[in-house]
Amino acid sequence: MRKLLLSIIVLVFAVSISAKPRPKDTPKFEQDDQHTLNQWYFAFNHQYFQDELPNDVIITRTLNDDRFMALTFENSEHYHIAINPKYNISTKSERIDLLHEMCHVQMFIENDYQLDDHGSHWQACMHRLANQGAFENLW
Ligand SMILES: [Zn+2]
Repeated sequence: MRKLLLSIIVLVFAVSISAKPRPKDTPKFEQDDQHTLNQWYFAFNHQYFQDELPNDVIITRTLNDDRFMALTFENSEHYHIAINPKYNISTKSERIDLLHEMCHVQMFIENDYQLDDHGSHWQACMHRLANQGAFENLW
């Protein structure tokens, strides 16, 4: 009897946990403002990459693989930067991630063998950005 009672208590507890409403995974700030993502990209490209990065990079907030905060990849026509909204709950973190991914884009277009690695070449890009003040007011 005691075992049955314990089982019922555990079951009720488990149900009450799973029934709790989950907080919204997706922050609501500027979620539909694709224009802002592109504006940041163009401004960063001009200010920190001498407009050498392609202007047709597709930037989205659609990444839902929670192993990553953001990803850069290419298909046959475009480079893509996908941002995970779950980990980017402020515009500041989005801009930091965008700069991070833009260093990957630079390595893609230069056919750098470290391509999507965070090795010395990518680190050099991030240090250069930091030295130029790209992260001021973001960190
Ligand atoms: Zn990276």
